[in-house]
Amino acid sequence: MKTVDLRSDTVTQPTQAMRAAMMAAPLGDDVFGDDPTVNALQDRIAALTDKEAALFMPSGTQSNLCGILAHCGRGDEYIVGQLAHTYRYEGGGAAVFGSVQPQPLTQDVQGRMQLADIAAAIKPDDPHFARTRLLCLENTWNGHVMHDDYLRGATALAREKGLNTHLDGARVFNAAVASAAPGQTAFARLREIADQFDSLSVCFSKGLGAPVGSALCGTQDLIQRARRIRKMAGGGLRQAGLLAAGALHALDHHVDRLAEDHANARRLTAGLRGIDGLTVKSAETNIVFVDVAEGRGPALLEFLKANGVLATGLIGLRFVTHLDVDTADIDHAIATVRRYFAEAPAVGLAAGRTGPY
Ligand SMILES: *Cc1c(COP(=O)(O)O)cnc(C)c1O
Repeated sequence: MKTVDLRSDTVTQPTQAMRAAMMAAPLGDDVFGDDPTVNALQDRIAALTDKEAALFMPSGTQSNLCGILAHCGRGDEYIVGQLAHTYRYEGGGAAVFGSVQPQPLTQDVQGRMQLADIAAAIKPDDPHFARTRLLCLENTWNGHVMHDDYLRGATALAREKGLNTHLDGARVFNAAVASAAPGQTAFARLREIADQFDSLSVCFSKGLGAPVGSALCGTQDLIQRARRIRKMAGGGLRQAGLLAAGALHALDHHVDRLAEDHANARRLTAGLRGIDGLTVKSAETNIVFVDVAEGRGPALLEFLKANGVLATGLIGLRFVTHLDVDTADIDHAIATVRRYFAEAPAVGLAAGRTGPY
């Protein structure tokens, strides 16, 4: 039985064509700046995001860390969403390694911090306070596309108050594909999003399907500082072109196809709607959240796993579509969820009550 793995878009395997591109890549020692494939990727992603320079990174976490530490020094702070990856899911790295204080703010269901809250959180120049230096946003956030009016308003406010801006764009290609105007290319849309920010981090290892890699994009000066920080963080890599080739292949072949992942997420949403005991949130890109009634989430997850479907979550379940799932896999996932609610309602309820969910 094939496993339909909907835990994350990070689970993809490199395609045969991507593996071939990786094997064929010319390599060098990137710590000397000698790897032609790393250099090509950095030039390419810098151009695509309309920035002066870019730096290849082993992970999105390291890319955001180096970005924040390149913008902020010891005793500075960054404003960030309470549930944002750069605050909640990166081990507190900016505080641990950089003595940079996060100032987390409440977000609405679309991931937006209120502009008034951002303005109120910016500290005056006074020895009581950390120096507010940076605003961090995330797009997509939980699969939601941040719309332009919000991005413009928030980044304009930051600029007006003298803050720099950083975008955690782990899934910014999903945002670009989902929000391109009719006839506009995803790359043109990406540039419009990136133009609002001083720096952004993009992931090649999520929906784009490369095995490893992210990039930080920004000014020459910022990237120069980030390179030094990356070295301290142990992220100076040698023949990294092997990995950069996977990312270059993804930029050539896996951007427009993200629309298929979005269509599959919509198919999943439609298929799960109307099942008693489930509340399905709408999917704008490739992530579907489902609230499960009365502590039945864990039992449903177990049932799905026993039937070859993997997802994550507790009260709410999360399903993420990607390059390694097709419409038949989505239909199998839908049918399996339906079967659970048809066959095992009482059992599920009893099992769910044992947990602190
Ligand atoms: C995955 C992710 C990252 C960083 O991911 P790594 O696993 O470190 O590559 C950063 N931000 C968001 C929003 C993400 O989803």
